[in-house]
Amino acid sequence: MGKQDSSDKHLVDPHGRTIDYVRLSVTDKCNLRCTYCMPKGHRDFERRNEYLTFAEVERVIQAFSELGVRHVRITGGEPLVRKDVPDLISRLSRLSGVEDLSLSTNGVLLAAQALNLRRAGVQRLNISLDTLRRDRFLKITGNDELDRVLDGLMVAKQVGFAPIKINMLALKGQNDDEALDMAEFCIEHGFSLRFIETMPMGSSGRAATNYYLPLSSIKTQLETRFNLVPSVMPGGGPARYFRIDGSDTNIGFITPISQHFCDTCNRVRLAVDGTLHLCLGQTHSVPLRPLLRGGIDDGELKRTLVEALKLKPARHEFGEKPEQIIRFMSSTGG
Ligand code: SAM
Repeated sequence: MGKQDSSDKHLVDPHGRTIDYVRLSVTDKCNLRCTYCMPKGHRDFERRNEYLTFAEVERVIQAFSELGVRHVRITGGEPLVRKDVPDLISRLSRLSGVEDLSLSTNGVLLAAQALNLRRAGVQRLNISLDTLRRDRFLKITGNDELDRVLDGLMVAKQVGFAPIKINMLALKGQNDDEALDMAEFCIEHGFSLRFIETMPMGSSGRAATNYYLPLSSIKTQLETRFNLVPSVMPGGGPARYFRIDGSDTNIGFITPISQHFCDTCNRVRLAVDGTLHLCLGQTHSVPLRPLLRGGIDDGELKRTLVEALKLKPARHEFGEKPEQIIRFMSSTGG
């Protein structure tokens, strides 16, 4: 047992990176159809019996937490379309090793659920919002739901979520003239703002590479109005942060394409069907569902996770092999 005990403490991959973060997709469905994420008319969703049950998810996260995972982010698809997500969150928040539970949402269903999410134990919220203009929101997401997202944001603030981070994909010719407006909106409401570069994931992600914009151009735009002071944020992940001088607003830049940050990758992704993805931009994965349903015991489950880590590649190859990842962001767990 001695050997196993030492791997019980930490998950370290072959490249020397400690993995302490799991992104957990609780559904591959979504109530929006963002052009760069899931194509209109997409129907090829996992069937219900292929979803991990909450008990199965809890077992995997418990095993991960015993191996040193401290951060869990609930994502999807749109996590709030899965019924009873607060119940899952309550279960996960009771696991002793999990110190940080966060959730990513498009905000459409947030107003009704924000309080329950907070009571269930969500500590931090990321809300994806690419535009403040109703016509553009409809064009980018396929749904006229901007007002509901804005309501969701305000309710999230009222029930005490802080910090609230807005994630905005920078899309050339679609929303890149809104960086200053979005920054002003975030200053006014005390939100943080993170810009993200488009990745060639699935057919929709690849089509969106026409809109790809290196974030250096967004930074230059912001600097025409604001003084950006280098900064850090708790749970900041791969973003490089700057505080807008004279405000509490932090601006983050997430640059998977123009300046990848794979050397500091600390995460793996568990898809709704129980597939463990070792890298967003590679195909290395391990299907956990058959093992869970085949009666694997807790010790074997942990050994499986330790072994799986050996498959974690050094870095994504979005640049060299943009055609490689056929799965959509929504099915991997964005
Ligand atoms: N529905 C939730 C949300 O909207 O935040 C969670 C899932 S969504 C897939 C997570 C994030 O992935 C969103 O911020 C979205 O903008 C981003 N995303 C989706 N497709 C992407 C792509 N091709 N490149 C970069 N980011 C992408």
